Formats: sequence, C-alpha cells, structure tokens
Amino acid sequence: MLPKTKTKIVCTIGPASQLPGVIRAMLEAGMNVARLNFAHGDIATHLTTVNALREAAADMGRRLAIMGDLPGPKMRIGQLANEPITLVRDQIFSLYTTERIGDENGASLSFPDLPRAVNPGDRIFVNDGFIQLLVENVQQEQVDCRVQVGGELLSQKGVNFPGIDLGIEAFTPQDHVFLRFAAEQRLDAISQSFVQRPEDLQAVRKAAAELDYYPFLIAKIERGCAVDRLESILDEADGIMVARGDLGVEIPIEEIALVQKQLITQANLAGKPVITATHMLESMVAHNRPTRAEVTDVANAILDGTDCVMLSGETAMGQFPIESIAVMTRIAQVMEDYEHPHDVPHMLEQAHERGDISKADLISLSIYKTVAAVKPIVVVTPTLSGNTARKVCRFRPKAWIVAVSPNEATCQNLQFSYGVHQVYETERPHSWEAYVRNLLHHYGMNAGLIVMTTGHTTADTGGTNRIEIIDLLEPTSDRRLW
Ligand code: PEP
Repeated sequence: MLPKTKTKIVCTIGPASQLPGVIRAMLEAGMNVARLNFAHGDIATHLTTVNALREAAADMGRRLAIMGDLPGPKMRIGQLANEPITLVRDQIFSLYTTERIGDENGASLSFPDLPRAVNPGDRIFVNDGFIQLLVENVQQEQVDCRVQVGGELLSQKGVNFPGIDLGIEAFTPQDHVFLRFAAEQRLDAISQSFVQRPEDLQAVRKAAAELDYYPFLIAKIERGCAVDRLESILDEADGIMVARGDLGVEIPIEEIALVQKQLITQANLAGKPVITATHMLESMVAHNRPTRAEVTDVANAILDGTDCVMLSGETAMGQFPIESIAVMTRIAQVMEDYEHPHDVPHMLEQAHERGDISKADLISLSIYKTVAAVKPIVVVTPTLSGNTARKVCRFRPKAWIVAVSPNEATCQNLQFSYGVHQVYETERPHSWEAYVRNLLHHYGMNAGLIVMTTGHTTADTGGTNRIEIIDLLEPTSDRRLW
C-alpha cells in the first residue's frame, strides 16, 4: 500500500512518545522519521527508545528511519542559586568562563573562549532572544554586559551570538560520544547542529567513517553564516534542516519566512531533501487543536517545497503527540492535492538554455517533462544510491515515485524525500517490465501508464539515462528490435 502522504513527517521522541503503544499509534498516524534529540536524555534511555521504535516498525511492517540529532556547541547559562532571577534594563550582567553559581549580577557560561570571541558593542541573546545583552567590557575570564531587554532567567537557558563567528567547530567531543552510540545502533541519519561551514560536516563524516559508519548527514541551518554558505554546505550534506528555533534568534526574526523559502529552493535545486522544523504546531503541546497560523505555516512550508515537516515538543513532551501527527497528515493531504507551480522546473530549464546543466539534471528534467505529458499513475526508478528518485521528486510530480533498490540504506535515506515510496528488492529482476507490472498489481494498479527510468545499457551501477513508457493495459512486450 502507498503511504498516506507524500510529505514526510519527522517526529522528535521524548517522554511523551517513548512507550511502545504510543510509537505504534504514531507510525499509524504517519510518522516516517523518528528524531532522537541528544541534547536531552541519557544514552540508556535513547537505547530503550531505539529498540522500541525498531520493534514497533518491524511488527507493523512499516519503514521508519531513525535520526540522531547532535547538539553541537550550544552555549548555556550555568547553575543559578535561586531561580528564576529577573534581569532589568540597563543593569550590568556578567558572563564568567569559570564555574560559579549565578545570581542577578552574573552567571557562568559553557564557553571558555568567550572573552576572545566577543568585542564591546556585540549583542548576546539569552533564552531564545527574550533577554538581550550588549557587551560593554571584556576581561580575562569575564564579559560584562549591559541588559538591553530584561526578563526572567533560569539555569541552563541557551545563549546565542547573532552574526558573530565564534571560530569554534560544530562537531564537539560530546557529539563524538553520541556519534559512537549512533554508529553502534546503526542509526540511519545524523543531523549536526550549528553547522557553519562544509568542514563541520567533513569532521562528522571522518569521525563516522573511523567507526565504519556512513549515515545520511543532515546539516542543521541555524546560523547566519550557514545561510550565506549554503551552496558549499549543500555540496557536503545529504540534506538540510531549516532549524527555525535557533535560526530565529541568530538572524532577525522578521527575515525567517524569506530565508526558509530561499533554503528550501536551494535544497530542491541541489536535489537534496530539506526538513522544515520547530514550532510548526507548538500550541498542540497543550491543546488538541492547532492555531490557524500554525496550520498555515505547515501548509506554506509544503508549498515552499519542503520534503519533511518536523514536530519537536509536540511529540517529545506534549499532551497530544498522535493528534499532532494526524493534523500534519491532514494538512499535507490537502496541500498535495492542490496544483501549483514550482520554481525548480523553470530554474533548471533556464540552466539548460544557458547550457549549464549536468547530465543527471538534464535526465531528471526530461523525466519530469515526460511525466507532465504522459500523466502516469506512478514513476518507477530502480536506484542504487537514490539520486534519481531525489532528483525527480524535487519537481513534485503528482504521481508517486516508486524507488526500487537492492540497498537497504538507500531505502532508509529516501524516507526523507517527498513523494518517494521505497521497495527493497535484493534480486535483480530478469525483466524490469514484468517486475513492475507484478509490483503494481499488488498495489491494485492494473491500468494506466507508467514512466520508468533505467540505467546505462552496459553498466550495472548508477547513471540513469533512459526513460520508458509502459501501458499496463498492453501485454508485456518480449519483442526485440533485433
Ligand atoms: C532548532 O533550533 O530549530 C532545532 C531544530 O534544533 P534544536 O531542537 O536542537 O534546538
């Protein structure tokens, strides 16, 4: 059976969603990817969760990818003596690089290089930007700031340095510990927080390869400099996440809708999946219905061309994890029925006219044009790496893309791609046409046209370069031209 939605749904797992019964209901409601947020919970708990997720998916015969989210160098305020404390406008609040119990005058910060990274006049945002500080004086082991916007502060609240290159690597020693766990558990994907440059992803890949581990690697775009360097980050990443939580603090919040559109279009053009994340249905943490604005946000992300929509607190610690997925599923179904133009075909068409298009992009554009003319019931792409399926799905064809692969990791990685349904097939079919007819018969599809892509006539691997149109009502052709 084909899934309920072409848009893929990523769910963060937490205390609200760790029990086997809840996981089963989440799979039934439409969860495609489970995200383990390593910023919370210990390894023992994550291990129990991984086992529960895999057991539920196997029992139900559902495909589920698991993504481990590495927290990266998230800065946090240290322990406060009495909390909350209240910071008021114009007072001085100091950040210390040495351990100390904090109070109204200052607190420690988990970043020893702070005095070398900031200068007087720099802005520091605390607690998702609700508190804003201006650096006034930098000393050896402390930075004194004037409070510009005050508010209540608790221990462990996050700290952001918008627009400041802190000169630190995204992949931290703590991330390495979680990567080792992910490698032991063979998690399908890793997302790296606070990526600033492609080298950050190279560091993750290198550390993973040393563990003989080759996960699908998602770059979380949440720093202004990562937005500026997206092209080179996309060259290195397998996909990206528009991590709107920290991004909304690192760049002016009023720019976030445009930046989201820009990131999604660039990922689409690169033929790599993109996840839109954070606060999508935030009110459903406590309510069983979303706000109108939230529904519009999910719908607009799908119109923008996102492959995946992500739930965070809603499924990790909210009261309505299953209902949140059900709401996303219903929104996705409505949006997927709605015909609207996408930018990608036009942009690739222009690249083609300029003569500036790769063979893989050209073949996928031809597949798209064939699909638009033929209106097939499905597009079938036998694939080793998943690339053809990814490159075709960015055109958002109405028909499902059935990606048949002998590679289990490819099938798992395609859980992140819009409109792709994976079939794991270890035996190389003697006749692809007969195979596809038989497969579609199982889905109850016995009439209509199919567009099928195939690879090079002489090579066994890679390089899709042929398009075939098959009419299911015509008998299988076993004729040869010669
Ligand atoms: C985000 O910042 O939007 C995000 C998804 O990352 P995290 O949940 O790790 O803060």
